[in-house]
Amino acid sequence: MYNIIPGQVKEKATLSRMVTSNRLPHALLILGNAGYGGLSMAITLANHMICLNPLPESPCGECKACVKSTKLIHPDIHFSFPVIKKGTKKREDTTSKDFLIDWRAAIKEMPTMTYSDWATYIDAENKQLNINTKECNEIIQKLSLKSFESEFKVLILWMPEYLGKESNRLLKLIEEPPPNTKVIMIAEDQERILPTILSRCQLIRLNPVSDEVLKSHLLSTGVADNEALKSILNLSMGNYGTALKLINHNEQDFSTLLLDWLRMSYMVDKDPAKLIQWITSLSTQAKDLQKSFFRYGLHFFREYLIGMLSEGYKMKLSDAEIQVATKMKAIITYDKIEYIINELDSLVTLLDRNANMKVALLSSSITINELMKGKKQPELIA
Ligand SMILES: [Zn+2]
Repeated sequence: MYNIIPGQVKEKATLSRMVTSNRLPHALLILGNAGYGGLSMAITLANHMICLNPLPESPCGECKACVKSTKLIHPDIHFSFPVIKKGTKKREDTTSKDFLIDWRAAIKEMPTMTYSDWATYIDAENKQLNINTKECNEIIQKLSLKSFESEFKVLILWMPEYLGKESNRLLKLIEEPPPNTKVIMIAEDQERILPTILSRCQLIRLNPVSDEVLKSHLLSTGVADNEALKSILNLSMGNYGTALKLINHNEQDFSTLLLDWLRMSYMVDKDPAKLIQWITSLSTQAKDLQKSFFRYGLHFFREYLIGMLSEGYKMKLSDAEIQVATKMKAIITYDKIEYIINELDSLVTLLDRNANMKVALLSSSITINELMKGKKQPELIA
């Protein structure tokens, strides 16, 4: 069951070995882009721990505990994740428990979901999700009770980045959990986790999946044919989540693609082949997908520009996107954004006119590179 997600072979072996040799640490932190499948691996790991007839490398998948675990309803596997206020409840009274039904459905639908996917799923795209004080108190209380059906109690805490200073409340629990209690955290951004939490966790770092592994996995699940796969693999760059989105034409979340493009444009002097391969793949995608991608870029940069220029403006971007924007601040100053917006605008026009998109994208990438590197002064471009 670890194999729902492709790749991460070494990491999966480490996790299953920890279970079978009974050497699981109190607290484990699985770190990596959501598209690498950390959440899914954490769920399988918890399932493996509570399985009644565990196999050396995976849970049996058939026992009573496995059935409940697969449905995410096992009473000894607890979930905590960032949320917003629910209905008429006050935010400080709302916890993950109020969103459990959505949570189960979202994971089933999107095993590699990102923070933005989750926010969209609960209609909270432009809201700040977090894990609040009440949630932390409930975690501590829940884990202090005896387990119900299995030897272990497991807490799966998704995105501890959104705990903020609340994480201090959990320090004692993580350092010295009650007997037979394990905490598994899944995070994307190490820098946003308190060092006091980090130092108490054993780290499992996930990596991009090789094209070969990704390809055979996608083919075996019958998701796409060989020809379409080639360009999807190039665009995904080892991210299973991105591959699934491209296959399903899920145009909601292009932030990873946009960021990859900007990064490769920035590095074009060092690795032009990589950028060209990526551009070739994008230009062979369906027109509506390309257009959605450029429109996403326009939306992103427009919001970012207004946000920079007008104090107090609430950007219509997800928290994760704002993080990305903040990281870019140093190299993409507001005077340059306008020119990037122009590039994206002209890409949309060129696409409508059936222009050669490979050439157009390459030219835009070079302009973006020069803007970021400061070789091209914005006032000279117009
Ligand atoms: Zn089982």
